[in-house]
Amino acid sequence: MKAKLLALALLASTQLYAQNDSLTMRKLSDDILLNGTCYDNLRVLCKQVGHRLSGSLQAAKAVAWGQQALEAAGADKVWLQAVDVPHWVRGKERLSLRFEGEKTFKDVKVLSIGNTVGTDGKVLEAPVVIVKSIEDFRLMNKEDVKGKIIFFNYRFRQDLVNTFEGYGDAGKYRWLAPNMAAAQGAAGVIIRSVSTGTDDEPHTGSMRYADTVKPIPAVAIGNHTADALEQACIKGNVTAQIQSDCKMLGTARSYNVIGEIKGSTYPDKIVMVGGHLDSWDVGEGAHDDGAGCVQSIEVIRALKAAGIRPKYTVRAVLFMNEENGLKGGMAYADSAKAARETHIFAIETDAGGFSPRGFSLEMKPEQRAQITQYKKLFLPYGIYDFEQVHGGADISPLMKQGVPVGGLIPDAQRYFDLHHTHADVFEAVNHRELKMGAVALTNLVYLVSKYGLR
Ligand SMILES: [Zn+2]
Repeated sequence: MKAKLLALALLASTQLYAQNDSLTMRKLSDDILLNGTCYDNLRVLCKQVGHRLSGSLQAAKAVAWGQQALEAAGADKVWLQAVDVPHWVRGKERLSLRFEGEKTFKDVKVLSIGNTVGTDGKVLEAPVVIVKSIEDFRLMNKEDVKGKIIFFNYRFRQDLVNTFEGYGDAGKYRWLAPNMAAAQGAAGVIIRSVSTGTDDEPHTGSMRYADTVKPIPAVAIGNHTADALEQACIKGNVTAQIQSDCKMLGTARSYNVIGEIKGSTYPDKIVMVGGHLDSWDVGEGAHDDGAGCVQSIEVIRALKAAGIRPKYTVRAVLFMNEENGLKGGMAYADSAKAARETHIFAIETDAGGFSPRGFSLEMKPEQRAQITQYKKLFLPYGIYDFEQVHGGADISPLMKQGVPVGGLIPDAQRYFDLHHTHADVFEAVNHRELKMGAVALTNLVYLVSKYGLR
């Protein structure tokens, strides 16, 4: 009987907690939806700074912007953490195609793949050889590859409901194809963009040459151009010209931008939320990942505005160089280790500023169980997916140190239409969807910084 009473008392107290928490969460939500600054911050970042590839002048401007935005959000302390980043530049670039029977080359829309070499401004002209897949490429004779421009015509799988799965599947053509073709003596590579889009937007993105290959230029074309090139290759011979100034200039000094609210009870234990400040050098890096930056800043602003002093320190981190090196994520984890900081939880938002649907979690089962317990508190906000198991790129070095990690999961059906393109601009982000993502993050950070993580 006693045990039953105790259990009832415990239930009543957890229900009371839950009720208090749901009221606080509603208050935070109301404030973000009514007074939130994340959308205005994103406008400034996109329109006044613009795209901001690591090492660029705009990236330096973005650092100053981030520092100022975190100060304006009311963080107790804001600082910069030095990071040396690769400095790659695109310069001018051109891809021209001449189909069988045509007299002249025609320029098509193109984006070089990030980190690739160019042609030093010279024209690289070679016949195009089409392959459907990496598996088919492996079956080719070296003499059929040597001196050719290989067109990897792999389509983003539209049947996969989770577009991130599709990205993982097709993304290897950006990572691996240039290396594989270079190893076999190809002169260059064209890939069908890693894109769900039904348009002709080329998508850039990162790659890295293996030490064992002589780098060759690699470019991406949009789906319409890829369809036309596929047909032309089936019908007859195609010749391509690649001309570009892409080059790696070495390293440049840059910074992660960090702001925090000191914890009242456990100031030395940290709950971290972050996104990446750098972007590709096309579009405005609005969804990728301006959205994540302004949402992370919003977490600080909303907690401060509500007068909440978290028990654990809440830290927002704007990472530099996620796109083409991950140097910011590595520097942050190194410095945390050197300073013997304890992160009890780190969450990343780098999947677009769309309507939030859940949180991915990579941690011990008992920790996962604790966060999953909060699910009913999130259901009124349309957050229901607590099943996925992953964190994020920038916090992967922390995860390797044993830190429990997570990620905000937005509805990503449109993300890979825009990702790494000219079309990833401020106008492509909806203000309510962006704010709802900030609400989700703020509320989870609120709960973890109150109850900790066992
Ligand atoms: Zn990103």
